[in-house]
Amino acid sequence: MIFHVLTLFPEMIDETVSHSVIGRAINSELINVNSINIRDYANNKHNQVDDYPYGGGPGMVMQPGPIYDAYQSLLNGKEKKRVVFLTPQGKTFNQKMAKELAKEEELVLLCGHYEGIDERVIEEIVTDEVSIGDYVLTGGELGAVVMIDAIARLVPGVLGSDDSSVDESFSNNLLEYPQYTRPKEFLGKSVPDILTSGHHANINKWRREQSLIRTLKKRPDLLDKADLSEEDQRFIKNSSKGL
Ligand code: SAM
Repeated sequence: MIFHVLTLFPEMIDETVSHSVIGRAINSELINVNSINIRDYANNKHNQVDDYPYGGGPGMVMQPGPIYDAYQSLLNGKEKKRVVFLTPQGKTFNQKMAKELAKEEELVLLCGHYEGIDERVIEEIVTDEVSIGDYVLTGGELGAVVMIDAIARLVPGVLGSDDSSVDESFSNNLLEYPQYTRPKEFLGKSVPDILTSGHHANINKWRREQSLIRTLKKRPDLLDKADLSEEDQRFIKNSSKGL
C-alpha cells in the first residue's frame, strides 16, 4: 500500500514513520510512505505557499495552486486517487474507517497548516474529510501519521502474525482482555491461574468474559454494535448486576 502525504513539513512524516513496526514494513516494502513537499510546487521566487485570507481575519491560508500541482504530480495523467483531507471538521477517525481504508492500494493524505486551505482546491481534489478528534492541532501531519500507523498495521504481513489484530480493542466493538507476561509474580500480584493452566478452551472463555466485562465497565456504548452470542448476553446481564 502506498501513502502519499501532501505536506509543508515532510520531515515530520518521514521521521515518525521510520521506527518500529511501521519502519520495518517500509524497509520490507510492504508499505511505502511518499511525502511530497507542497513548497516544491510554489511558483514564485520566495517559495511562498500561503497568503492572507480574503475578507480579513487572523492567520494565513494555504494557496490552492501548489497543492493542486503537487496532487497532479502524483497522477501522471492517470485516474484520480482517493484523497483524505485531515481536518477538525471531518468524520472522526476510528478502527472501522482504518479497516476500510486499508483495502486501498494508494491513499493521498492532505495536511493543512496555519488557518487551513483555500476551499476551492478542497472541492476539486478531496474525496474524504477525516478528523483525529475534537480538538484543533497546528497542522495535519500528526493526524496523517496516526492514520498511517492505524491503517498500515492492518495491511497483511505488517504485524508479525496476521492474527495479531483479530482480538484487539475495537476489532469487534469490544475492548481487548487484559494481557500478562513474565514474571509470574509482580509486587505480590500473581498472573491469573487460568492463563498458566494450558487449557486453551478455558483460556479463550476467560478472555472473552474479560473482554465483555471491560467493555461493559469502560465503553458500554460499544456493546450495542458488538456481535454477541446468547451466552455473551447472559454473561453481560449477570455481570451488570454486580456493577
Ligand atoms: N481554521 C481551521 C478550522 O477551524 O477548521 C483549523 C485549522 S488548523 C489550525 C490547521 C490544520 O491542522 C488543518 O487544516 C488540518 O489539516 C489540521 N488539523 C487540526 N486539527 C485537526 C484534527 N482534529 N484532525 C485532523 N487534522 C487537524
